[in-house]
Amino acid sequence: MNFSVTQKERLWELGCPKEELERNFLEAGTRNKTFALLEKQRAKQTKERLRAFVTEGRQPSLAGLRQALAAALAAGGFTRLETPAIISKEFLRRMSLAEEHPLNDQVFWLDDRRCLRPMLAPNLYCVSRRLLNVCAKPLRVFEIGSCFRRESSGARHLEEFTMLNLAEWGTPLEERQSRVRDLAKLVMTAAAVPDFEFTPEKSALYGETLDVTRGGWELGSSAMGPHPLDAAWGITDSWVGIGFGLERLLAAREQPNTIHAYGRSLTYLDGAALNVK
Ligand code: ATP
Ligand code: MG
Repeated sequence: MNFSVTQKERLWELGCPKEELERNFLEAGTRNKTFALLEKQRAKQTKERLRAFVTEGRQPSLAGLRQALAAALAAGGFTRLETPAIISKEFLRRMSLAEEHPLNDQVFWLDDRRCLRPMLAPNLYCVSRRLLNVCAKPLRVFEIGSCFRRESSGARHLEEFTMLNLAEWGTPLEERQSRVRDLAKLVMTAAAVPDFEFTPEKSALYGETLDVTRGGWELGSSAMGPHPLDAAWGITDSWVGIGFGLERLLAAREQPNTIHAYGRSLTYLDGAALNVK
């Protein structure tokens, strides 16, 4: 017999490796004793981790990653933006998220005209268009902020997650491919995520794209213009852009059992489960 579902869940949230969770036992007595022992060990480690976090005055890795990425991008000539998390239905429509679009089902609506942004791109398009009226090209901008999507959950999806979206407007056409790769490398180096790959992918929004992946996990998705979506935003320049999920970058680096451990949470603090005594 195996650990019970509840036992597995408990060991999982305490960060027990998968192999341990699948152990076989001849009878319930041994199984329960093993569970109690493992639970105690893991809970002890978790408590030590939480105490160290507080006594050493650490900051959550998510906050550290925001800082590291912002510093690397500023050094790369990018300007930081902070835009609203509440956006209009019109902005989604301009991203061609018409009512029948699959991503539309994932949108958190506040009322019939406004929603929580499922992506940063509409606001970046809007502010960039305005900046392009007054600034020289290439114009490089980025935002790091919360995005919201209704997800059927799972280890890779959060309903509230942190996106980094960068865009460079005015990239020479022939340089776009190499620029996307260089910018992705800049981000991955700043995030200290080793061993990533570039994987061609089809995006519902942008058509053919290049994803940044690691071990089958999508960490980021790139896009390039000129693009059919540009006209709705008055953009005529060629461009490149990439969106990364910060919690996925952390999960790729820290290897927790679930991405939830590094997201905004009441259950976890910086990878450590909070329900320990
Ligand atoms: P997936 O196919 O994995 O659901 P996606 O292609 O829909 O992701 P994009 O729209 O390309 O996601 O968003 C850019 C990045 O944001 C993704 O590469 C991923 O790292 C991150 N991301 C997207 N949705 C989520 C989510 N629900 N939770 C955590 N990170 C996410
Ligand atoms: Mg994608």
